[in-house]
Amino acid sequence: MQQSEKLFSRAQKTIPGGVNSPVRAFKAVGGTPRFISKADGPYIWDVDGKRYIDYVQSWGPMVLGHNHSAIRQAVITAAENGLSFGAPTEAEVIMAEKVSALVPSMEMVRMVNSGTEATMSAIRLARGYTGRNKLIKFEGCYHGHADSLLVKAGSGALTLGVPSSPGVPADVAQHTLTAEFNNLASVEQMFAEYPDDIACIIVEPVAGNMNCIPPVEGFLQGLRKLCDNNGSVLIFDEVMTGFRVARGGAQERYAVVPDLTCLGKVIGGGMPVGAFGGKRDILTHIAPTGPVYQAGTLSGNPVAMAAGLAALAELENESLYPHIYHLTEALVNGFQAAADKHGIPLTTNHAGSMFGIFFTDLDKVTNYQQAINCNNEQFKQFYHGMLDAGVYMAPASYEAGFMSYAHTDALIAETVSAAEHIFSKL
Ligand code: PMP
Repeated sequence: MQQSEKLFSRAQKTIPGGVNSPVRAFKAVGGTPRFISKADGPYIWDVDGKRYIDYVQSWGPMVLGHNHSAIRQAVITAAENGLSFGAPTEAEVIMAEKVSALVPSMEMVRMVNSGTEATMSAIRLARGYTGRNKLIKFEGCYHGHADSLLVKAGSGALTLGVPSSPGVPADVAQHTLTAEFNNLASVEQMFAEYPDDIACIIVEPVAGNMNCIPPVEGFLQGLRKLCDNNGSVLIFDEVMTGFRVARGGAQERYAVVPDLTCLGKVIGGGMPVGAFGGKRDILTHIAPTGPVYQAGTLSGNPVAMAAGLAALAELENESLYPHIYHLTEALVNGFQAAADKHGIPLTTNHAGSMFGIFFTDLDKVTNYQQAINCNNEQFKQFYHGMLDAGVYMAPASYEAGFMSYAHTDALIAETVSAAEHIFSKL
């Protein structure tokens, strides 16, 4: 750990907290974040040369595993022709056609550089399209760090938005209403309160930022109906779930069609890429065809498009989804059996290749309050035990885990055996 420790203390002198994204600092679990020097397939290596089985996979993008040869080669080939032109390219057209084919509700697609940009732009578009101000989001759902989305719930369902970060003006936050995930009644109340001013609902169709919480039966269908009845836009934030919980995302898995979809992570194959899109009738309101402004110097970047297209091409592999679903199920079932054997109160969730484990007596975790009431002390001990054993999981109990195509049954067995050893001592 020596090199990581040295780098972390050096980093903190010139980078706030030593990191460029907060969760990397290990604040939730304590200790020194591992500085990573390389990754390949299911593994990452830290700067001290220690290898880990990786269940973070760059927070989701690497559904094929790290350093995939086809993606790497596509990036090298594209880079040989120049890094950025600021003018349209064929790769962007192919990308839009490909996304539209994989996610049919995305009749038109606009590329951006991150998930944050995708959700921020989709919200602006929904507001511009409807001429309304307010949006409904769900407690515990994260949609990137745009001002109007950095709002968490007050105590009651109808509490007006309170900013969850200094720097977000109350005037902006007041238009964000926060409902309870998996609770349609809390959403209905908001429509009753503001019948003509709700521009959109934005939801992670499988929540992956309060650990992993799938939608309960009827929840997404209910949101669809409420939006239809009230003239509001339904936005699925599939930055995490896109191409991961099914080839066509959560909308395919749960058979609910949103008006707008946000993508990120997998669509860039590891490069900084996001996208939003949806109904033609809505997308034509964006500049230059419409008045809602949105732009980007590096949007549709040729190297990023090459990486993304190479990643999406690999999704055609018929064995990909069965393999990652099977491994995800094997992993959570293995964790559950090991915990049961040693009397550790634990429950798990999973959807496609996303999973979560919760240290709790509850049979199932279905909302934010339940997720944050889990035993964080046990999680921390588990986390560091796994890290020592060479298993890299998300360094916070409220993050989902991710499986890749490069993982194997043998690695799952190794992971479960490491977990069992820790459970036996908790
Ligand atoms: N939406 C969801 C569901 C996410 O999980 C994330 C990031 N984890 C974002 C949006 C923001 O994406 P980015 O970090 O690329 O801005």
